[in-house]
Amino acid sequence: MDLKLNNKVAIVLAASKGLGKAIALALSAEGAKVIIGARDETELTKTALEIQTLTGNEVIAMPVDVADGNQITNFIRKAADAFGRIDILLNNAGGPPFNKFENFDDDAWQKAFELNLLSVTRASRLVLPHMQKTGGGRIINIISGSVKSVLANSVLSTSMRMGIVGMAKLMADEFGPYNITVNNVAPGMILTDRLKHTLPKDADPEEALKERAKNIPLGRIGKPEELAALVTFLASEQAAYITGTTIQVDGGANRSIF
Ligand code: NAD
Repeated sequence: MDLKLNNKVAIVLAASKGLGKAIALALSAEGAKVIIGARDETELTKTALEIQTLTGNEVIAMPVDVADGNQITNFIRKAADAFGRIDILLNNAGGPPFNKFENFDDDAWQKAFELNLLSVTRASRLVLPHMQKTGGGRIINIISGSVKSVLANSVLSTSMRMGIVGMAKLMADEFGPYNITVNNVAPGMILTDRLKHTLPKDADPEEALKERAKNIPLGRIGKPEELAALVTFLASEQAAYITGTTIQVDGGANRSIF
């Protein structure tokens, strides 16, 4: 299927590794011109080169801390100048720490808010005029399967992602007339550094992953490219009538019927 992403311009945030990198690669492989952002310029430039070599399509690396209002404002301005348009925004960031509710103070909540909720608000608001100008666009947010069923110790993540679920519904409602769709993708367990860092330090990683996968109907941890495939579809012309949704990529891990 031709996803008609040739000549589309995509911004992928938090893309030096993990899910963001896999999404940038998948969009680039479909012909999109991709602009990737993350904090570490060296790692980001390496990722951009790697993707460009694999796909043959232009990838621009621009350092940004998505939690910093001035940096994200400059980033979106430069990104819009780079190819003269913005068609796709993939909102992503590092995840907040895991711990029990009682262990997070105001500072931890404030940081999670700026990194995982305000960053999405800001980037989306800043791309809006560019998408309105070209007559449409796609905003896709990476959130977490914890918005569908309880994940122990994920109170910071879940609280911020629930905010995004609500915000995306309102955005879908308001942006529909501009032909801009807004959707969330909720990963279950996908094999990235973030997941690897949550494994017990003293355990064999292979065994620990098998143990984690025991309750997943598909019997394994997901691959970043499996989540990227959904994002690429949501970014496509074919997904023009899908908006305001949250779709899980979790191997069936969430048993909730609704
Ligand atoms: P990862 O740690 O592998 O990659 C995170 C990326 O974010 C890196 O490129 C890092 O440089 C970048 N980043 C971190 N803070 C940033 C900042 N302030 N500004 C710009 N870039 C920043 O993580 P991942 O597994 O790819 O996770 C991506 C998102 O998906 C996270 O929010 C995570 O909580 C969420 N998530 C992941 C899983 C999973 O199984 N991997 C499950 C549920 C939710």
